[in-house]
Amino acid sequence: MSVSLQQHASLQPFHTFGTEARAAWMAVADSVDALRSLRMDARVRDLPWLILGGGSNVLFASDFEGLVIRMAVRGVEEVDGDTDAWRIRVGGGENWSDVVARLLHSDRPGLENLAGIPGTGGAAPIQNIGAYGVELAERLHSVTVWDGRHDVLHELSPEECEFGYRDSVFKRDGGGSGLPGAELAGPGRVVVAITLRLPRRWAAVAGYAELERELRARGEERPGPREVFDAVLAIRGRKLPDPAVLGNAGSFFKNPIVSREVHAELLAHAPSLVSYPLAGGRYKLAAGWLIDACGLKGYTRGRAGVFEKQALVLVNRGGASGREIWELAQEVQERVRERFGVCIEPEPRIIGG
Ligand SMILES: Cc1cc2nc3c(=O)[nH]c(=O)nc-3n(C[C@H](O)[C@H](O)[C@H](O)COP(=O)(O)OP(=O)(O)OC[C@H]3O[C@@H](n4cnc5c(N)ncnc54)[C@H](O)[C@@H]3O)c2cc1C
Repeated sequence: MSVSLQQHASLQPFHTFGTEARAAWMAVADSVDALRSLRMDARVRDLPWLILGGGSNVLFASDFEGLVIRMAVRGVEEVDGDTDAWRIRVGGGENWSDVVARLLHSDRPGLENLAGIPGTGGAAPIQNIGAYGVELAERLHSVTVWDGRHDVLHELSPEECEFGYRDSVFKRDGGGSGLPGAELAGPGRVVVAITLRLPRRWAAVAGYAELERELRARGEERPGPREVFDAVLAIRGRKLPDPAVLGNAGSFFKNPIVSREVHAELLAHAPSLVSYPLAGGRYKLAAGWLIDACGLKGYTRGRAGVFEKQALVLVNRGGASGREIWELAQEVQERVRERFGVCIEPEPRIIGG
């Protein structure tokens, strides 16, 4: 089998910031055999690899001097479940939000809080996607990973994926590529499929404040999956920019986690600080609040900006370069650090940052 390779390919149509960037090489992989064939190809096998799903969690601050592989492994099928739960295997290239809608329509609820998140099934475990009180890890049976270094397939349990808040073992080892560092060039770990675990006994997860408010406003005292799904999509539609209209990657910064002492000190200086207590006495701070408190909501630098409705989101106001967006992100980080002494880390993968 051979896979066609494109040289000096434009990445602009394949990521949601919509900035111009080029890949030295680009290919589409719709199977493990396609990945194997690329692994054998002398033109690209020793270059850095970058797996791209929907491109909704990457920022190209520069061109990519390696091989970009667009993930296109398809398929959504029910596999042997048990009496407690359905198991659904989803190809790494499937569109996540379509899968959520499709499963809901076929009476396989459980993912409605994660409705409307852009991107692919294969990328979902990379940062353990989460929204409105649910994280992927809670609905996952296993992750099927092709280890390109040794050309073997592994089935990883959620424990082996070491999931955390917007974090997993894949993020720490460079995701689907050998980045960063030339010593890691060549294929890394590629998620070719995930197997979901959806409990047959459905219970609404509706305790997240914003979702609770929305459901109440809709008069939903005892919401079913469809009502939660609709409410989640309505909230998202109001507060997040549509990447087709305004380039963005959703939340650009992770909410920082601080010790009890740091939290108390911050609160003494900023009594309206928004934070959430965590187990073990630590606190998660609302990064959007920190940015807003620095007066940066709606701020524009060149052709990049901080979204007016939600300070956590950076946007391409039209024609921005990836470098411009990255410079804005660094300025936001610096301003928050100066004012609060807290470091806010980017959530998306930064290429060439
Ligand atoms: C408007 C908007 C709203 C968003 N809302 C949320 C939200 O509510 N919650 C949330 O968690 N995220 C959210 N995101 C971020 C994003 O949608 C998710 O992180 C999503 O899972 C990224 O999927 P993708 O296919 O676009 O990944 P990409 O951006 O293509 O890739 C992201 C990273 O994963 C790696 N990767 C991708 N596919 C694979 C694979 N098959 N194997 C190995 N590595 C891979 C890439 O190399 C890269 O490092 C939002 C983004 C946008 C634009």
